[in-house]
Amino acid sequence: MFKPRSFLFLITTSLFISISSCSSFSEKRELESKKENPQTPFLVATKYFQNSAEAAALYHQGYNVAFQYVDSLMKTYREKKPACVVLDIDETVLNNSYYQGSLYHESKSFSDETWDEWVRQSRAPALPGVVEYIEKVRELGVEVIFITNRRSYLIEPTLENLTRVGIKAERRYIVGRDKIHSKEMRRARFKKFCNIVQLIGDNLSDFSDDYQGSTIQERKDKLESQHSLLGSRYILLPNPMYGDWRKTILPKPLKKMEDLDSLKK
Ligand SMILES: [Mg+2]
Repeated sequence: MFKPRSFLFLITTSLFISISSCSSFSEKRELESKKENPQTPFLVATKYFQNSAEAAALYHQGYNVAFQYVDSLMKTYREKKPACVVLDIDETVLNNSYYQGSLYHESKSFSDETWDEWVRQSRAPALPGVVEYIEKVRELGVEVIFITNRRSYLIEPTLENLTRVGIKAERRYIVGRDKIHSKEMRRARFKKFCNIVQLIGDNLSDFSDDYQGSTIQERKDKLESQHSLLGSRYILLPNPMYGDWRKTILPKPLKKMEDLDSLKK
């Protein structure tokens, strides 16, 4: 038998359930949209690196200066051991700003998992000037060695990536990171058979371990003691997206623009 009161109860209850689920859904979406993207503070840096002619110019400038030094050095080079140069890979040879861009679009922080996935795609473009620099120093008889903080198990896709951008490299001249984090210690094994005449990187730790884990002042003091080597033996390339500088001078974790409020004025 039809009972009007029961029917009314049923309608009201279903209406309440659908309104509350609808409201919790929209609240969830609103909350999600308000969630801070951990890459927001680095958006301008990534765009600058990826798109500006100035960033490209700094790479050309770095590699032009690098070659001029090696070229003039080799004119009078009389050492018994052959000369070699050591290059870092990320943001020195290969441009990973597209990985940084994907982190922004997916609202993620760096993780080994996403990084490994990116490296295995072997699709990072070469940075401006590097392919020509490598060709020219090799023509002078200088060996090119790559010392990277990419893990050793990523060397194969790294080799494939280098080949794709026109850089021939041998497996034995690419040193990844395993137990030994120190780039100085990893360079040491090459000193036995070649004379390292130049180091190129986007991080001061590519030149000396002393920059790693140091305070802002310690890094600046160390730099003052080494500044005469810049532009010749040491070539520093620009990376405003990440690096040891970021670990030292920015609060961690940095998730929103307001975290940059500590900037002096
Ligand atoms: Mg690097």
